[in-house]
Amino acid sequence: MNPITTEVLIIGAGPAGLFQIFELGLLGIGAQVVDSLAAPGGQCTELYPDKPIYDIPALPVCGAQELVDRLLAQAKPFNPQFHLGQEVTELRREDSGRFLAVTAQGTRFDAGAIVIAAGVGSFQPRRLGLEGAEAFEGTAIHYRVKSAADFHGKHLVIFGGGDSALDWTLDFAPKAASVTLVHRRADFRAAPASVARMRELAEAGRIRYLEGLAEALHTDGGRLAGVAVKDGAGELHTLRADHLLAFFGLHPKLGPVAEWGMEIERKALKVDTEKFETSVPGIFAIGDINTYPGKKKLILSGFHEAALAAFAIQHHLYPSKKQFLQYTTTSPVMQKRLGVNG
Ligand SMILES: Cc1cc2nc3c(=O)[nH]c(=O)nc-3n(C[C@H](O)[C@H](O)[C@H](O)COP(=O)(O)OP(=O)(O)OC[C@H]3O[C@@H](n4cnc5c(N)ncnc54)[C@H](O)[C@@H]3O)c2cc1C
Repeated sequence: MNPITTEVLIIGAGPAGLFQIFELGLLGIGAQVVDSLAAPGGQCTELYPDKPIYDIPALPVCGAQELVDRLLAQAKPFNPQFHLGQEVTELRREDSGRFLAVTAQGTRFDAGAIVIAAGVGSFQPRRLGLEGAEAFEGTAIHYRVKSAADFHGKHLVIFGGGDSALDWTLDFAPKAASVTLVHRRADFRAAPASVARMRELAEAGRIRYLEGLAEALHTDGGRLAGVAVKDGAGELHTLRADHLLAFFGLHPKLGPVAEWGMEIERKALKVDTEKFETSVPGIFAIGDINTYPGKKKLILSGFHEAALAAFAIQHHLYPSKKQFLQYTTTSPVMQKRLGVNG
């Protein structure tokens, strides 16, 4: 498959990556955006969507998801192309000076410049640490639900105590052959109403709830047959299962970013403070992933870095182009790009 050609590839759709689309767009530069998560927003969406943020300039209070929605709306005139649920695993500079980036799903990009806005790394699901589990991941052991219908009529064991675990337990209860929810303790992080509903279903015998920890997989002729769970009293329960669904949350992994040959200091990419360029010319890094003297991991730092990186990227791509500082208030060119004032 031919690579997708783009002026700029932005790796990471957190607040810094989203604002980078806008700053590049103002200068007439287009971008493709990749994120390993299923939705844009980075930490704001994944870790604290409902929490209010109080230190975004000119917004005395703004919900974290609201901020992401506003950034998406601001970037919309520039028609960014998102590739979600894809982790960039490979990045290399070609002899032409352009970059080839490849995702784990095989999407390839041919980009003139790269912006790494990868935050604390790509978020990965916490795995079920059982012997032999890896062989079943994606077929009988799942960390997210891609197609709910695949689980209908099946024997399911769901692990976790957060919203994902509870929501899927309630959803599958009437549709699966059987559902057992396993959580390691009596406290749940999920919405209290979901927990109450789950307990009702368990009391009515429509699902089973077990407090305990997964102990071992049971297989039958190479097929997953069930899982043994040890409860608080040390008793082992063998549960029949066609599929295990584990929702233990996500953890960030610097992973591939660390392998692309850029200078790294304490798990962050070293950049200068004029261009926010890494030690590889043409690869820029903004937001939580970068480091420089005085760096503060705040959303507003990422915004500032995106603005300066955009000018540096313009110079990298079009070195003979004269640069002007233009105001959105008065620049007809920028207003045309924004689709305002005719
Ligand atoms: C609970 C909490 C509260 C906070 N409150 C505030 C606050 O009040 N004010 C404030 O300024 N900051 C706050 N922060 C910090 C703020 O959220 C971060 O500074 C900000 O999210 C950094 O943005 P970013 O775009 O650099 O990275 P992130 O938001 O981390 O986004 C990076 C994105 O890159 C993706 N990614 C990484 N590697 C790859 C790869 N190889 N391929 C594809 N995708 C990849 C990740 O999946 C992720 O979506 C808070 C953080 C937390 C956890």
